[in-house]
Amino acid sequence: MKLVILDRDGVINHDSDQFIKSPAEWQPIPGSLEAIARLNQADYRVVVATNQSGIGRGLFDMPTLNAIHDKMHKACAMAGARIDAVFFCPHTADSRCHCRKPNPGMLEEIAARYNLKLTGVPVIGDSLRDLQPAAELGARPYLVLTGKGRKTQAAGGLPEGTPVFADLASVVAELLRPVPLD
Ligand SMILES: [Mg+2]
Ligand SMILES: [Zn+2]
Repeated sequence: MKLVILDRDGVINHDSDQFIKSPAEWQPIPGSLEAIARLNQADYRVVVATNQSGIGRGLFDMPTLNAIHDKMHKACAMAGARIDAVFFCPHTADSRCHCRKPNPGMLEEIAARYNLKLTGVPVIGDSLRDLQPAAELGARPYLVLTGKGRKTQAAGGLPEGTPVFADLASVVAELLRPVPLD
């Protein structure tokens, strides 16, 4: 089974420093849903791992998060794309949970759910905390420059050898690039 793990805000949809608190605020980055569709067509399952501390902070509630994800799934379906599952951490940073990235809990949960090792699995994010657990678990981190990506790149300290791409669509183009025969 082929799997790709995506961060949500700043990778699939535009990010906001004020959090994505409503379905109306969830707006896809151009080309991202079509990129997910291309992955699906190439037999990749696509799952999301996202920190949503806005829940823990009381900025929005679970029904609202579900409504945001309904919108995301419907927008995907319109583009011929499918997100297999959304893993989220609702906790705040000071809760010291194991699931909030950069902790590896969500990625471990994904590995358990799909009964696979994450070795070589692409993990695509716009923040350092998306990429650190990926590198730790032997997955392949990719940084995109959408969302907080430019700030992340400027801050440095990425896991060694992390490739940097303009956006999700360009990572996917690279992942699906035919291997030349020689
Ligand atoms: Mg993000
Ligand atoms: Zn958590």
